[in-house]
Amino acid sequence: MGKAILFSAPSGCGKTTIIHELMKYFDCFEFSISATSRKPRGEEHDGVDYYFLSHDEFMRRVEAGEFLEWEEVYAGTCYGTLKSEINRIWDSGRVIVFDVDVNGGRNIKRYFNDDALSIFVMPPSIEVLEQRLRSRGTDSEESISKRLARSAEELKQAPVFDVTIINDDLQRAVDETRRVIEKFINAETI
Ligand code: ADP
Ligand code: 5GP
Repeated sequence: MGKAILFSAPSGCGKTTIIHELMKYFDCFEFSISATSRKPRGEEHDGVDYYFLSHDEFMRRVEAGEFLEWEEVYAGTCYGTLKSEINRIWDSGRVIVFDVDVNGGRNIKRYFNDDALSIFVMPPSIEVLEQRLRSRGTDSEESISKRLARSAEELKQAPVFDVTIINDDLQRAVDETRRVIEKFINAETI
């Protein structure tokens, strides 16, 4: 079994932004591309940010047992980790990076156990989270409301993750994340 780093947090907390910065630093990282039944947003591309599937196709793959885990994260919108992603990345000898919702994060941690470092990305406050979701400029009012409604419950689950990173100043948060990941990755080689 290889290693995995998993990022969880409510939508808008900065997971994608932090992962993007870390990918520049860690050559060994490979992003696990999730499948989703939602439509692409902004500059997102199929097979890069997500595998964008129709709802029927998503459910067909659920039935076929192709997912390691999946969730209906928002009413009518599903997200999930395909087992084929794990094989694809570990076969290449790289470290898997997951960006999943809080329930998915708990399930993946349970599955990988000590081979995964679970990181919770915490916004400085709910108000800042709301501002960031708005300033991202890619979500409708309805989509922002759905995300905020879910976030309060999700934030309470931070303590079950291995590490919590407060995403106040981006560079500081990235540096702190880099340090904990280096410690985790090097642990076996000490
Ligand atoms: P997530 O992947 O968790 O949904 P994003 O990475 O898309 O969140 O971040 C949401 C928005 O907040 C984006 O517009 C991003 O540029 C912005 N953002 C992320 N981190 C910070 C930060 N530390 N300070 C200010 N804005 C940030
Ligand atoms: P977004 O629509 O903002 O890209 O993602 C919405 C939520 O779905 C985020 O919290 C994101 O982490 C989560 N998500 C993305 N991929 C997966 C996945 O494969 N499994 C689970 N459980 N959640 C996911």
